[in-house]
Amino acid sequence: MIKEINTDGIVIRSDKYGENGRLLYFLTPDHGIISIVKHGFNSKKNIGRSILQPMNYVKLEIIEEKNKYKINDFELLDNFDYIRSNYDRIETILNIFTVLNKLPLNDLDGNRMIFFLVKKLLEATDKNTEFSSNNTKIYFYYQLAWCLGINFNISTKCSVCSSNEKLEYIDISNGNLLCKNCKSTSEYSFPVSENLSKILIDISEVKFDRIYKIKDQKDHIRKEFINMFNLYTDFHINHKIVSEI
Ligand SMILES: [Zn+2]
Repeated sequence: MIKEINTDGIVIRSDKYGENGRLLYFLTPDHGIISIVKHGFNSKKNIGRSILQPMNYVKLEIIEEKNKYKINDFELLDNFDYIRSNYDRIETILNIFTVLNKLPLNDLDGNRMIFFLVKKLLEATDKNTEFSSNNTKIYFYYQLAWCLGINFNISTKCSVCSSNEKLEYIDISNGNLLCKNCKSTSEYSFPVSENLSKILIDISEVKFDRIYKIKDQKDHIRKEFINMFNLYTDFHINHKIVSEI
């Protein structure tokens, strides 16, 4: 049976395929990640060459037959010009895409949220004059946890005693911040630096286009975050999401 699928997609990966083709991966709102071979990709006749590039946001008409997909038609919706003119921004986005490519996407609502999160990531990175690679990554992964149904529960007070003590631990089992007096209430308490605790509180309260107003985080804070984040996702979904630090 032949089925026609009309969807939006963001190209998140493009691999060489045979002599002249490409294996393209599209992140879509309703079908997760769809991979499609485009034969003759590099030929001069292929007008899709410049449109079907990683990071581009496209409208797609796909034909599905016997579990195989074929692109019937496509149209460019946005190519995020400004990101492309800036090495640091491209590098950050492509880095996040490598993480997306390895995600276990099997939940329909979650897929939809991930698609719109990535779209917001591209729009915010494209239109803001300010940029922070580390803030972008920390914020994106923090929100990704929400899409995967394992959101953090960050608040400015200790989640156990509600005191205003310094929040020096995170409970990996539920994503709550804890003070040192309540550390022992969970066997999964994990220490966090003052800076990480602060950025977690800050990002839990802002929208994507405001993350550049937050102080630009240093590399070691991003590394600390990713290390904690991987412990967290490993605990909840048996998967360390971010392979590079
Ligand atoms: Zn406490």
